[in-house]
Amino acid sequence: MSTTPRSDPLAFLEAEVAALRERNLYRALRVMSSAQGPIVSVDGRRVISLSSNDYLGLTHHPRLKAAAAAAASEFGVGSGAVRTIAGTMSMHEALEAELATFKEVPAVLTFQSGFTANTGVIPAITGETDLIVSDALNHASIIDGMRLSKAPRRIYPHADVEALDAILSEVIETGRDGSGEPYRLILVVTDGVFSMDGDIAPLPGIVASAEAHGAAVFVDDAHASGVLGRDGRGSVDHFGLHGRVAIQVGTLSKAVGALGGYVAGPTALRELLTQRARPFLFSTSHPPAVVAACREAIRVMVEEPDLHERLWANTRRFKAELARLGFDTGRSETPITPVMMGDPEMAMRFSDRLMGEGVFAQPVVYPTVALDQARIRTIVTAAHADDQLDAALGAFAVAGRELGLIGG
Ligand code: PMP
Repeated sequence: MSTTPRSDPLAFLEAEVAALRERNLYRALRVMSSAQGPIVSVDGRRVISLSSNDYLGLTHHPRLKAAAAAAASEFGVGSGAVRTIAGTMSMHEALEAELATFKEVPAVLTFQSGFTANTGVIPAITGETDLIVSDALNHASIIDGMRLSKAPRRIYPHADVEALDAILSEVIETGRDGSGEPYRLILVVTDGVFSMDGDIAPLPGIVASAEAHGAAVFVDDAHASGVLGRDGRGSVDHFGLHGRVAIQVGTLSKAVGALGGYVAGPTALRELLTQRARPFLFSTSHPPAVVAACREAIRVMVEEPDLHERLWANTRRFKAELARLGFDTGRSETPITPVMMGDPEMAMRFSDRLMGEGVFAQPVVYPTVALDQARIRTIVTAAHADDQLDAALGAFAVAGRELGLIGG
């Protein structure tokens, strides 16, 4: 029996998009026609941006631009191969050595992005005989990394060290699959700074609990790189936990201003990842301009500490003013400041209203956050001038009063 072929096998896509639009969950892409920075051109308008992860303003720093241009001129625009074939240049290895020195660890391996660092390292070092214990709000790339691993996993409620401790005690007691056999590795995984709330992981408690149970700690410092610790060395440095966190993942795409990710830890970890991490093995390495920009960024972070100071001064001022206006900024402790809206439709309307006032601040809605936790996510950077922050706060006040979120 034959059936009539359907005219368009992909017709369901339109229905799915329509359903998202109906629930106010469809987000049109905002298109920038300028460089990244505190003022950007979006959809043809010059607006103050509170939406980038460009914490230190390095995306357009003259030293990074010059380094990238010189590298492109001398070494070309592409690396032409994966690292394990012909895509490892001396500059790739130099960047890794410099990052290892900066992070005060024995070895670093770079990846194409923070995302591929997580999806590369987690399945490469865990398997059926291991256990991953993960914070409930960890980044999507950690979740995907766990999905690619054969290791079973347990999730602990966000930042809840007591709950983590209880899980670790239980799994040590029962062993693998309740057999009493010990796990080869128990890996406790957490973001260093949580990307949607801006809170810092309770790392001292996590490390103490892991040590008490013989587990290793893995921190994804994407939003802590360049932000926390001396010269932006990250959450491990911030808490003085050097030598007690086995694996750190960082990104070169946010505060570092260019693109990439890295895994920092023992030499054997780097060696194993060069043999097993699938994005490293099967995806082309960074082009020379990106590598050169990242190397220069590390120097700038150490040699220009005023950028870090300015980032934090701007952060403190912006948070204090938002609170004074009466906004709920959740539990943020870092330059990521969510302004809580609740309902996705309110978040969309608020963002549009801000845009009307010349401020670019994106709504974050389900599935990135829970359905009733929609928010405007803001990040101030070292590059924002005082008058730009004042103008942005003025726009929040206007939108907040008009939409009934704050009084006055
Ligand atoms: N981890 C976390 C916690 C992040 O917030 C991000 C970026 N959104 C990543 C990893 C991915 O980093 P990248 O943009 O370099 O892929």
